Parts: sequence; structure tokens; C-alpha cells
Amino acid sequence: MSNLKYGKKERAAGPQHYDIIVVGAGLVGAAFALRMARHYANKPGHHKKQKAGNVALLEAHSISLPTSASATTFDPQVVALTEASRQWLDTLNVWQACADRACPYGHMSVRDGQGTGCIEFDAADVQRANLGHIVEKSRLRASLLSGIAEQSNIDLYCPAPVESLRRDGETITVNLSDGEQLSSSLVVAADGANSPIREQMGFHLRTWGYKHTAITATIKTEKPHGFTARQWFTPSGPLAFLPLCSSVKESPDEARYVSIVWSQTPEEAERLVALDKEAFCRELTMTSEGVLGVIESVSERLQFPLTQRHGVDYVQSGVALIGDAAHTIHPLAGQGVNLGFSDARVLAEELARAFEQDIDPGNLQTLKRYQRRRKLDNLAMMAAMESFKRLFEREELPVRLLRNIGMSGLNRLVPLKNSLIRQAMGLA
Ligand SMILES: Cc1cc2nc3c(=O)[nH]c(=O)nc-3n(C[C@H](O)[C@H](O)[C@H](O)COP(=O)(O)OP(=O)(O)OC[C@H]3O[C@@H](n4cnc5c(N)ncnc54)[C@H](O)[C@@H]3O)c2cc1C
Repeated sequence: MSNLKYGKKERAAGPQHYDIIVVGAGLVGAAFALRMARHYANKPGHHKKQKAGNVALLEAHSISLPTSASATTFDPQVVALTEASRQWLDTLNVWQACADRACPYGHMSVRDGQGTGCIEFDAADVQRANLGHIVEKSRLRASLLSGIAEQSNIDLYCPAPVESLRRDGETITVNLSDGEQLSSSLVVAADGANSPIREQMGFHLRTWGYKHTAITATIKTEKPHGFTARQWFTPSGPLAFLPLCSSVKESPDEARYVSIVWSQTPEEAERLVALDKEAFCRELTMTSEGVLGVIESVSERLQFPLTQRHGVDYVQSGVALIGDAAHTIHPLAGQGVNLGFSDARVLAEELARAFEQDIDPGNLQTLKRYQRRRKLDNLAMMAAMESFKRLFEREELPVRLLRNIGMSGLNRLVPLKNSLIRQAMGLA
């Protein structure tokens, strides 16, 4: 990680011009910047304007990368990656660098915490080795930044909070907080759920609170997790157990670390986080029905208030929103970053097509094609998650009965279940 271009390089006077400026080096912005830099590297000498480089990646906060891997210490923030996301990261040559700690899971069990309803998914049913992988966020980000460090046509400005944007005809000028200026015909905002760029450029947003706060932590369980992802739906919110392993070669009997995402009403989340660790583990053992035996220990617990957001538009001339800047979704299906990677992949495809036709990256028609291709998919996923959440919040007996019958029935409908598996893997 030695040649990461943090801080300042010697630069000429006046705004530095780039083909694309990406704001935000989270998972989505970093992946998109890397994808675009690879694209430009394969098309040398095809540029109209004098530039400082192809891609500028601007990150507000200094980045601390994980130093050495500890077998039993895990980042309390993980993401469940679909097979489609994993394949895309592989094409960027970043998968290999984080694969050693990525935990594959071949089974998934979804239970109604209020009854006997249960659906089991198995990778073998769709002739696959795994349904997905659980990856620590910090490790995946480090792999992406390592790829970026090897790419000579990306300039990473960090720490470099963007302060404001100015539009002059077809050029957008980005002002950094230290007074430095960059310009481009396209600014891609990957600056997260509270996107300052989205705000400044006047994008409208639809939001509604889920009235849930997610607690995340790493736990150690009495029994091995068996490389199975588990989810319980309770009226106060879902609980997910996501398997972890310190290396892919770990023996199945040793694998007893699990990342939890426990979504609860804000009051209940406050209460749970205030409990001492033993009492928290006891409540978790109960809610997880002792499926992995007693919960033996828990790491620090983090809290995330959950809000659904969706941009009315993702684009305007010269500006595009991707990832959480464009939409946020309840983590119950583990889809947020997967949708963000799909945004990044589709926007990169549309920009590559425009490039072949000598069309500027900031061209509105190009950006609208990206929006059209992504918006329906994102909306459909958000609607599905909202229905799931509402269905499991209902406590009336008839609804519970129907829910249990429905889940057990679906479990026996093999073709429908297999189609659901392929959709969840991002392969449908
Ligand atoms: C509890 C929880 C569990 C989740 N589990 C899953 C899961 O299992 N699977 C899944 O797919 N998704 C999951 N998600 C969602 C996933 O974490 C997010 O969708 C994803 O991390 C968003 O990435 P991003 O790069 O779009 O945004 P972010 O990670 O928020 O990155 C934005 C970046 O922009 C930078 N920035 C902000 N403002 C500026 C500025 N002015 N100038 C420069 N830089 C700026 C920030 O510092 C940050 O680095 C989960 C989310 C939560 C809360």
C-alpha cells in the first residue's frame, strides 16, 4: 500500500482537468474510479483536452487501512456480496486480494421468529458452490485502494472534502476545502447516504424512515456456523447471523465467529446496546432460538439509524449519483452495496459506449441511459424489502398463520425458490 497517492502531488497552476471526477472513496466510488481508470488505460491517445489525468478520486476523510489480519478480530461492519458483485470485482482484479478473508456461504435459512415458518436455500439447488460471500468492509476497501494505487491514471486526493461545485457551460469546477480546484465535464457523486453533492446540485429525494436502528457486532457462538447465513423475522425487526472466517481454509468445526445485523425500533436498540455484554448475549441466544447454541461473547456494538432514500433523478447534465448517494435500502436483504456496484458497472458501460462515439462523459443523454437502466431495478428491490418488513411486523394471528403456511409452501415450490435464489445472487 506504499504508493497510495494520499496528499498533494506537484501540480500546475489553475484547475486540474480530468475526464471524470469521482467524489467519495467508499466501496462504490472506489470501485467505479478503478473501473473507469482501467477503461482509459486501454484507450490511450484518444483524448480531446489537455488533462492532469483521467480520473480524480476525492475522499473527505483520511483512510486508515487494516494493518495485519487477526484470526479472531473482525471489522464489525461487513457486507454480504452477491455472486454477481463478486464476479465484477474479479474483473477489476480486486477480488483475489480480499478473498482470503471472505467467508463463502452455501446455505441460507430464513425463519419467522413468531412461528414455525421457515425457508431454506441451498447453493447446490442452483448448481453453485456458494450463494454469496460475507466480506469485511475495511478489507474490501483496502483491496480496492490497493488496485487504485497500482493505477497511474487515478489521482486520489485524501483527505480532500469537496466544498462546492460550480457549473460553467459544460464544465463543472469542484472546489476543495483547501482552495484547490479541479474541473471535468462529469462529476460522479459516490459520497454516501447524506451526499453533499446531491444536496448542492438540487437533486430531489424521496425518503421515509424505517423506524429501525441496526446494531452490528461480531459474536462468538458455541456451535460452528456451518457456512450458513441465517435470518429471523420478529415483529420488532429482523436479526441476521452472517458467517465469518479468518481464512477460507478454516476448518468448518472452528468457524464460530458470526457478524450480526439486528434491526430494532430505535428505543429497543438503545436498550439492547445499553445492556452489559453478558445480558446482550443472553437476549441474542433467545432471539436466535439457540440455533448456534449459547452466544459466548460480543465485540463492540455499533448502531446505524435506517432510512430509505431514493433520488427522484440520479442524473443531470454533468453530474451522476451512484451507490448510497442515489438510494439507501433496509439491510435486511443485504443488497445496498450490491445495488451500488450495479450502478457503477452500468454507468461505466454507458460511458464506454459514449467514449467510442466521441461523446463527452457529461452528456445528459448518456447519463439518462444509465438512470433508465438502474432506476427500475433499484425501485423493485426497495419495494420488495418494504413489503417483507411490513409482512413480518404484523402480529395478528391470521396473518401469522398465513405467513407460516406461505413460507413452508414456498419452501416446497422448488422452481420458484430456485428463481428467487438466482435473483438474490444477482444472476437472474
Ligand atoms: C447495518 C448495515 C448493514 C449492511 N449490510 C449490507 C450487506 O450485507 N450487503 C450490502 O450489499 N449492503 C449492506 N449495507 C449497505 C452498504 O453498507 C452501503 O450500501 C454501502 O457501503 C454504500 O457505499 P457507498 O460507497 O455508496 O457510500 P459510503 O460507504 O457512505 O461512502 C461515501 C464516501 O464519500 C465520502 N464523502 C462524503 N462527503 C464527501 C465530500 N464532501 N467530499 C469528499 N468525500 C466525501 C465519505 O467520507 C465516504 O468515504 C449495509 C448497511 C448497513 C447500515
